[in-house]
Amino acid sequence: MQSLHQRRALVTGASSGIGAAIARRLAREGALVTLAARRRDKLELVQRDCPGAECVVLDVCDAKAVVRELGDREFDVLVNNAGLALGVDRLPAGDPEEWSRVIDVNVKGVLNVFHAVLPGMVKRGRGDAVLLGSVAGRQVYPGGAVYCATKHATRAVYEGLRLDLAGSGIRFTSVDPGMVTGTEFSLIRFRGDAGRARAVYQGVDPLTPEDVADAVAWAITRPANVNVGEIVLWAAAQASTTTVTRRA
Ligand code: NAP
Repeated sequence: MQSLHQRRALVTGASSGIGAAIARRLAREGALVTLAARRRDKLELVQRDCPGAECVVLDVCDAKAVVRELGDREFDVLVNNAGLALGVDRLPAGDPEEWSRVIDVNVKGVLNVFHAVLPGMVKRGRGDAVLLGSVAGRQVYPGGAVYCATKHATRAVYEGLRLDLAGSGIRFTSVDPGMVTGTEFSLIRFRGDAGRARAVYQGVDPLTPEDVADAVAWAITRPANVNVGEIVLWAAAQASTTTVTRRA
């Protein structure tokens, strides 16, 4: 097992949900974490739990800012996590501006961060690059075409990077969770409608952000000869993206 002690880790989307839990977990294991997201106040709350952490206020869609803020820093671990979904409208009823937003953050944002951070890892001949995918990158569900398209796209990016950087010393991992509670994901998806967001998890014990953080920590602490490629993490009550067993 490899230690995370003093390893420099960048977590995007660290101001909330899964990213915040990953940052806290890596910090607890001794990593020096850089917390990136747009909301400074939320980042600073997470920073309090992460000794030695620093905050970088950043919109991952702003390619120039991503290079400026991250390009010269050295990271041993990258967790490319920032992402969102907007709406569950059937495609013809969707809003093209919302589609652009989701595609920009989930695909271009992920690419921008890889583009800024991976060259340093290549130069040093080592690193762990973790991508937060989703079961939505493996199965499509009604009203999810655009979000699922972005997560299918990041799965292709993950597979492409494995090939493009074969032999570089970088280990790539895609962690693909099913339904996770305790994040802002559903509230944002339902545009602030807390009732609809709550209903997603009614009668189910979903995954928690800490469950996902556990998978990430496990993957990147395996011995140097092991690359955990893909982890699909379902809630026990979720058999597929459309089949969830709920308590009465
Ligand atoms: P969340 O609580 O809403 O967290 C999303 C994070 O992304 C926030 O920290 C947000 O920070 C950041 N973010 C959004 N847009 C950004 C931008 N333009 N630039 C920089 N940061 C940005 O949701 P979550 O559930 O933790 O989601 C994290 C990842 O897990 C996403 O990629 C999501 O697709 C994936 N996922 C979630 C679930 C689930 O059920 N929750 C399941 C599978 C996969 P700011 O708003 O401060 O920028």
